[in-house]
Amino acid sequence: TTALVWLRQDLRLADNPALYHACRTCEHVILAFIDDPLPTSISQLGAASRVWLHHSLQAFDEHLQALGNRLILRQGAALPVLQQLLATTGATHVYWNRVYDPASLARDKHIKETLKQTCKVHSFNASLLNEPWEVLKPDGTPYKVFTPFWKAMLKYGIQHLPLPTPERIPAPAYLPDSLPLNALALLPTIRWDIGMMAHWQVGEVAAMRKLLAFLPKGANYKEARNLPAQTGTTRLSPHLHFGEISPRQTVYHAKHYLQSHPEAESGWRHFMQEIGWREFSYHLLYHFPHTLERALDARFDAFPWAEDHAAVLERWQHGKTGFPIIDAGMRELWQTGWMHNRVRMIVASLLTKNLLVPWQAGEQWFRDTLVDADLASNVFGWQWTAGCGADAAPYFRIFNPILQSQKFDPEGKYIRRWVPELQNRDNKQVHLPRERGDDLREYPLPLVDLKASRTLALTLFKQI
Ligand code: FAD
Repeated sequence: TTALVWLRQDLRLADNPALYHACRTCEHVILAFIDDPLPTSISQLGAASRVWLHHSLQAFDEHLQALGNRLILRQGAALPVLQQLLATTGATHVYWNRVYDPASLARDKHIKETLKQTCKVHSFNASLLNEPWEVLKPDGTPYKVFTPFWKAMLKYGIQHLPLPTPERIPAPAYLPDSLPLNALALLPTIRWDIGMMAHWQVGEVAAMRKLLAFLPKGANYKEARNLPAQTGTTRLSPHLHFGEISPRQTVYHAKHYLQSHPEAESGWRHFMQEIGWREFSYHLLYHFPHTLERALDARFDAFPWAEDHAAVLERWQHGKTGFPIIDAGMRELWQTGWMHNRVRMIVASLLTKNLLVPWQAGEQWFRDTLVDADLASNVFGWQWTAGCGADAAPYFRIFNPILQSQKFDPEGKYIRRWVPELQNRDNKQVHLPRERGDDLREYPLPLVDLKASRTLALTLFKQI
């Protein structure tokens, strides 16, 4: 028998249930990736993600070729492509790992029903600790608050023993044609991606190396994770998004490390909780798919967002707001495809609360520019910060970018790294926006008055 393994966000050989079970059950295994443009624009990959995907597919194929197999690349609507692959290869089993955004879920349901008529279809969970429908409130409804969700998840249990890499991934004598990777045109024609990718190593091996190297740092995670000048977090997010590593592998290795380093317990417990926020965002998107476009808190349907916001949005996007920590974050994003979590919250708060730009505009910019852009986590992060999502901070808690910067980047190291215009300011001045009359001509004046805009946001919120 021959199995067709359809890869999506699971570009790894280890702890890959679809691949593992295909190899155990069938004599021959064909692995295919289909570049399938899903119908909704929000499901399309952003530009930075497409670059990452290019390198991830390349790394995966190299790994696979070392084991005597090869990745088949195709482009087009997934169902006819799969049907054609099945017909030409004689494969009788199809294996895949689930993806959970609403458009993919609907597509995969239809594909499963159709293919089931002619072959065996097997699908698995590879990218979450538990399925989004498994952990529910005692009354059977989904959670909307994180802490009880996470408690219930821990009580439900986490299966944390990862599956091994299959020893053999035997290819059939005849492998179908593959498009060359460049034919997918994932890289931009104007090569802005080279500088961005200099910050990253892509693929399963790089992801595992990064996790293992981070293990000793986990002891300080709880404190260090808030300091953007440090490498206090794992930076595993793009690897997790593309499935180069699974959350189960991170939990397994953390637990293994703790056996010999019990002093790191509190840091790693906190890390686990962050993986928990990822699970929570998937849980919410699964149960409330309308939140892709509308706030979970329905009161915000009537919120009077600024209508003519193109100019302020552009200054925010380009890191020219005149608030040093914001500009540092936006430039870090532009140059590296990633931004520190604390700074993501600060920039999102300024955009949605002080500038009254709808959260969807920020979500869209992040979706296009982040290498870890992930529908569930991104929509959740934006709604949480805008105060219109699940378990959000109360609306009146509006981040002050200057106080945040003084607290979390006290020596201004992060700011100076990304905003060279402020290189020569002392540790006090580096946090403060330029004041009228300063001779710092190349750095912009603040885009908005923080106090007045805060008062306006609170007044508008009271109205809804
Ligand atoms: P670590 O601190 O090392 O955490 C480990 C992993 O846990 C992360 O890789 C991530 O998968 C998960 N995680 C951590 N924090 C969160 C969180 N708050 N919500 C969900 N998962 C979390 N994360 C994305 O992966 N993709 C996004 O598109 C995304 N958009 C965001 C938008 C906004 C406005 C905000 C406030 C947060 C967003 N996040 C997003 C969450 C978080 O900022 C990133 O996951 C984190 O910064 C990634 O860095 P790390 O891998 O070093 O994290």
